[in-house]
Amino acid sequence: MNGFDWQAKLRQKIRTIPDFPGPGIQFKDITPLVRDPAALRLAVHQLIHPFVGAPITAVAGMEARGFIFGSLAAWELGVGFVPLRKPGKLPYDVQSVSYTLEYGEAALEAHIDAVGPGDSVLLVDDLLATGGTAQASGELVTRLGAQVFAFAFVIELGALKGRQKLAGYLVHSLLVL
Ligand code: AMP
Repeated sequence: MNGFDWQAKLRQKIRTIPDFPGPGIQFKDITPLVRDPAALRLAVHQLIHPFVGAPITAVAGMEARGFIFGSLAAWELGVGFVPLRKPGKLPYDVQSVSYTLEYGEAALEAHIDAVGPGDSVLLVDDLLATGGTAQASGELVTRLGAQVFAFAFVIELGALKGRQKLAGYLVHSLLVL
């Protein structure tokens, strides 16, 4: 983008909160980024940039911050959005995958008819930490019979090596912190 340091612009809008939600966690708060229209537009533009024209049929986003970036990415790519939700939230029949989080245990669910054979899905979340959430999301989409096209994240915490859990997949992250 013509020498414009877009990564610096995004980095400025991410606030680090020490020891949230527990001791030792450096929480990356993206609320200043999504509050700023230029930064939000920039983040979404950069998230989808490698995928414009790709044969993606849906974007899936992980609850909750993946809904923000995922639905905007789906809008920009001209495809629909699939929410991957915490257990007990979806009203229809679900497929479920459990996993280990940087801070605890969790599971994600999707409606059984959300995607299926013939779908090629871009998975979007705000942040890649240990990779457990992303790996489980990929598993969920795969169990429903769809293909994972790629993963896209605003932030990747490089030291936690989440990318290794996603070996074999295309992983696009805007900032490695
Ligand atoms: P993981 O499964 O360890 O890759 O964790 C990724 C998920 O947890 C994402 O949905 C993030 O929103 C959230 N998360 C994990 N660690 C952090 C962190 N340090 N700051 C903000 N969100 C985080």
